[in-house]
Amino acid sequence: MSATYVVVDLETTGLDPNRDAIIEVAAVAFELDGIVEEFSTLVYPHQGIPALVTDLTGITDEMVADAPGITTLRPQLRRFLGDSVVVGHNVDFDMGFLRAAYVGANNARLDTVTLASIVLPDAGKYALDALIKHLNLDNPTGRQEHRALADAHQTVALFYTLLERAQRMGVARLNEIVQSGRRLGWPETRFFEEALGLAVRHGFGRGGAQRVEKLFDPPKVEGPNLAGVGDDPKKIDAQAIANMLKPGANFSRAFPDYEYREQQVAMVRRVAEAFNHGEHLFVEAGTGTGKSIGYLLPAAFWADSNDRPVVVSTNTINLQDQLISKDIPQLQRLLFFDLRAAILKGKRNYLCTRLFEQMRHRGPGNADEMTLYARILNWLPGSDTGDVNEITLRTREEQLAWSRLSAENDGCNRDVCAQA
Ligand code: SF4
Repeated sequence: MSATYVVVDLETTGLDPNRDAIIEVAAVAFELDGIVEEFSTLVYPHQGIPALVTDLTGITDEMVADAPGITTLRPQLRRFLGDSVVVGHNVDFDMGFLRAAYVGANNARLDTVTLASIVLPDAGKYALDALIKHLNLDNPTGRQEHRALADAHQTVALFYTLLERAQRMGVARLNEIVQSGRRLGWPETRFFEEALGLAVRHGFGRGGAQRVEKLFDPPKVEGPNLAGVGDDPKKIDAQAIANMLKPGANFSRAFPDYEYREQQVAMVRRVAEAFNHGEHLFVEAGTGTGKSIGYLLPAAFWADSNDRPVVVSTNTINLQDQLISKDIPQLQRLLFFDLRAAILKGKRNYLCTRLFEQMRHRGPGNADEMTLYARILNWLPGSDTGDVNEITLRTREEQLAWSRLSAENDGCNRDVCAQA
């Protein structure tokens, strides 16, 4: 009898199953309580191996010269797969090559890239080696990387870890995913059924299987409300602020690699004066001038002195992220007053919880929506912002699915929502 799951990993001469050929195949059969059997062989591809592939895998033409062809291996592979669920990292790639070789046509399949994107919605990178590193699973076999058997063992280790992590989503959310997945015939449902069964057994069921109604609580506003813009703002001391950048002063004492730049000091002074006089100021300065601190520092003093917000509008989200994650925290370490900062992006970056609730109600319409829906179910309760930047939209299809859920939505009108 075949095992419940078999991880399959292939090395090939290229990406196209109709043109390229398998040069190595590995399969590891496993149950939830351990590995049952493994199989691995080089395969004669009836074509040359590109240098790029040899560089990546270490497999040369000489190594495969006496190996069996895929036709010879077919009966053995079919026996090994039996009726197991085929698991793979980007499994459609491996299944494409197997099916071109008339193997695995009727086997169900599970993709660990899709599963990882749901269970670890904020992992950022979903390549096998990146996930292994992210989860501290480094090379469970100690075998050579980018060879089929080593990758197959890593995929088994990843599967076990994902299954263990998935249980923490709790019975209610796992049940919601399973119900929607079953309605849609979504292949990954099988994994969440397994996780649901384990979650029930291991006591992750507090609150029962009842749907979690509220997934997102906007964070409470901290600190006092700020005043509106008035006619007579207090002036800030442009020279004193600029002096903070002098050698031996605040910045050089706080940051060992601080570099004094005259243009930056001039910019701080001019920006502070522009605040004081309510003027527009146009500054052109080259890379390395330290422009961010050049405007943030006087802006922070002006905001604190007047108890008013300052809006910094950037051209890119990258610069916005840099300000919020690097420059503003630097200022917060250095300044003697409490500097609060919040980030606001274009509406398309934020989930509309109303549209998401509608999707929960009617159910996702296709596999891409289903994957994103499951990712959001897992991610949203831990998010303070609903900002899509916290999860990585991996594919164009996922981006399209997001566009139907984001707060900038062409389909919104007064008939469906009072906020439109
Ligand atoms: S108008 Fe559209 S995007 Fe805005 S809250 Fe309503 S449903 Fe959401």
